[in-house]
Amino acid sequence: MDCLFCRIVRGELPASIVFEDEEIVAFEDINPQAPVHLLVIPRKHVPTLNDLTPEEDALVGRLHRVAAELARARGVEETGYRVVLNCNAGAGQTVFHIHLHLLGGRDLQWPPG
Ligand code: 5GP
Ligand code: ZN
Repeated sequence: MDCLFCRIVRGELPASIVFEDEEIVAFEDINPQAPVHLLVIPRKHVPTLNDLTPEEDALVGRLHRVAAELARARGVEETGYRVVLNCNAGAGQTVFHIHLHLLGGRDLQWPPG
């Protein structure tokens, strides 16, 4: 699959990987928007949130639990953090392989822009 994040999953492109298991990889965002900005992605290529099927229900749950574990590891679990999943271009999605953004380490405004 000619997809940026599939290439990171396969080890063809470098990334600062902070977690990986058989289903999930997490790495530092190349253009961080907060002191903590990690991307948590499934190894499986799913383009957008719209493309999920019941087959991925448990995987999507695990993506969130991994994000929470990484938030704890980075010490932002009490101060607060945000998990964001942009769906399609109008919401800012630029890489069409679903990913959770884990943002923390500063005050985050609401609503997002
Ligand atoms: P989106 O805009 O699709 O929600 O998020 C894509 C994210 O991927 C952006 O925050 C962007 O900075 C990040 N990104 C794009 N290309 C790369 C890359 O090659 N390596 C890493 N680590 N992050 C990337
Ligand atoms: Zn992909």
